[in-house]
Amino acid sequence: MSEPAAAGEGGALVLFSGGQDSTTCLAWALERFERVETVGFDYGQRHRVELERRSAISRGLTRLNGAWARRLKDDHTLSLAALSKVSDTALTRQVAIEMETGGLPNTFVPGRNIIFLTFAAALAYRRGLKHIVGGMCETDYSGYPDCRDDTIKALQVALNLGMEKRFVLHTPLMWIDKGETWSLAEQLGGTALVDLILEDTHTCYLGERGARHAWGYGCGTCPACTLRAEGFARYRERKDVRA
Ligand code: ZN
Repeated sequence: MSEPAAAGEGGALVLFSGGQDSTTCLAWALERFERVETVGFDYGQRHRVELERRSAISRGLTRLNGAWARRLKDDHTLSLAALSKVSDTALTRQVAIEMETGGLPNTFVPGRNIIFLTFAAALAYRRGLKHIVGGMCETDYSGYPDCRDDTIKALQVALNLGMEKRFVLHTPLMWIDKGETWSLAEQLGGTALVDLILEDTHTCYLGERGARHAWGYGCGTCPACTLRAEGFARYRERKDVRA
């Protein structure tokens, strides 16, 4: 792993939802930056249980690594209740998750990541943090145009112009698939981090935490569970090939 950035270079704010991806991003940031804060967004999502996982995950991360414990600072929760008012999707309503005619899943909250990153930048501005880290990813592309690398790069330019700052937006998962996200976690924190992610993170869109599968908790059939399960299977396969 690379050396942590000097403290003078500015700390990091991680978009931390309590899911697998954002937990991996948080470990990535803790490995690199001397000061790391986290932000979660409450927008009335059906899978709000993931927000409740965040404190358990943070506690787990600080137990895994003494340096991470020193670097991990404030956690912020921002309410974006308006998001559920302007979007009418399966993430915020009790309807089935399915593909819509435009080719996007109806889990899509239009521009959600643009809104999240903009609020994160406003918070980072106030907290004096230079780096903003998010789990957006083009691989395993589920049709979310606000996860595209070009969207994030364009937003970085807009935020820096509009706030007269030099924020750096980091997306460590952009070009890796869900299997490689598990491998990245293992590189960052060993199998202890993989186990923490399996046990404590939440991905399922339906907020289901009943059954514990090999890949963690969830309904097992929604798009988020399917991606997580397939990714974990690929990670295990690659591990077996290497062994
Ligand atoms: Zn599910």
